[in-house]
Amino acid sequence: MFDLLIIGAGPAGISAAFEAKKHNLSYVVIEKGLIGNTIYNYPVGLTVFSTTNELEFTEGTLKPAREKPTREELLSYYVRFVLENELNIQTEETVLKVDKIENGFRTITDKGEYESKSVLFAIGAIDYPRQLGVKGEDLPKVHDMFRETYPWVKKRALIVGGGNSAGEAALFLAEEGADTTLAIFRENWESTDPKQGCIKFWVKQPLEDELKKHCLKLFFLGKVLEIREDEVLLENEEGEVETLPNDVVFVLIGSDADLTMLKNLGVKTEQGKYGEVPSYDEETFETNISGIYVAGHFTNHRHIKDAIAVPKALISKLSQRIKKSRSAPG
Ligand SMILES: Cc1cc2nc3c(=O)[nH]c(=O)nc-3n(C[C@H](O)[C@H](O)[C@H](O)COP(=O)(O)OP(=O)(O)OC[C@H]3O[C@@H](n4cnc5c(N)ncnc54)[C@H](O)[C@@H]3O)c2cc1C
Repeated sequence: MFDLLIIGAGPAGISAAFEAKKHNLSYVVIEKGLIGNTIYNYPVGLTVFSTTNELEFTEGTLKPAREKPTREELLSYYVRFVLENELNIQTEETVLKVDKIENGFRTITDKGEYESKSVLFAIGAIDYPRQLGVKGEDLPKVHDMFRETYPWVKKRALIVGGGNSAGEAALFLAEEGADTTLAIFRENWESTDPKQGCIKFWVKQPLEDELKKHCLKLFFLGKVLEIREDEVLLENEEGEVETLPNDVVFVLIGSDADLTMLKNLGVKTEQGKYGEVPSYDEETFETNISGIYVAGHFTNHRHIKDAIAVPKALISKLSQRIKKSRSAPG
């Protein structure tokens, strides 16, 4: 029986594994994709918005060529960190179910079964991309993720969304020669409040340059009405219907975590700032089910800085508890 089973090898799961190893806990990480899978799925060549001190596991170890790392530099750093520290991470294995058993939990994956005294969910919040819920959204030309520009050069691309991911996709596409339209609510375009998830100013400014050069069009959205094979029907902010010729659509309006396994275990949830989150103790990160812990982007502690910091505190406390129970009589 492991002391700890960690689900997910993003920054939170890697940080937890490193701490578990440091505290001599027996542990395993189960990751359904690759090491740092969410970062692997960032657009190719993207420069991330955080500075190195917010992204690294140990101070001064992430050394990008410029001030901030690219997707490739960050991913390489995380992969090397796992390999150099010989962290026990099993990739391409999906956790399907976690059951309570006597003295702990049984975790069932698509490849096997594991028993552990505790389980840390570090599953991120990418499982359910939000959808528009309109006719034609299931067409193959509609994507919920933007990976790269080059297939779309000279194509008519529509990006729907008001946050940084939508802004970055529109910028990549406009700069590299796609006929690009960003469909966005006016209040999102005009927002400068980073807490509301607005487009960061270093993305917004070049987007404005692309607008001036007529390489980008803005569509102030009322709502998306329908996506068709070679056009999209949009309602503008005045309620008028417009038809745009179109080859590809990116719906980048956020995503949510899959809380099913936690709920099946009896973990309570509540309304967080960005949507439904598991309820947990803000000091121990333990849920109402003793031995079930949560960390990372699907909690109230979003972004990589906290995804790394929280497991440091969490594992230290968990380790004290496990060591105490080991030394308890009987
Ligand atoms: C384009 C883009 C740019 C971003 N830039 C930044 C930035 O500059 N700075 C910043 O702080 N944040 C940034 N973010 C957000 C950042 O990626 C997240 O905050 C971070 O990945 C959270 O880490 P995590 O470990 O909590 O979750 P994740 O990195 O999402 O890791 C969760 C892991 O769990 C795995 N998993 C889920 N379910 C299962 C299961 N059932 N079985 C096994 N494995 C499972 C997933 O495959 C995934 O690898 C960006 C996000 C995007 C999309």
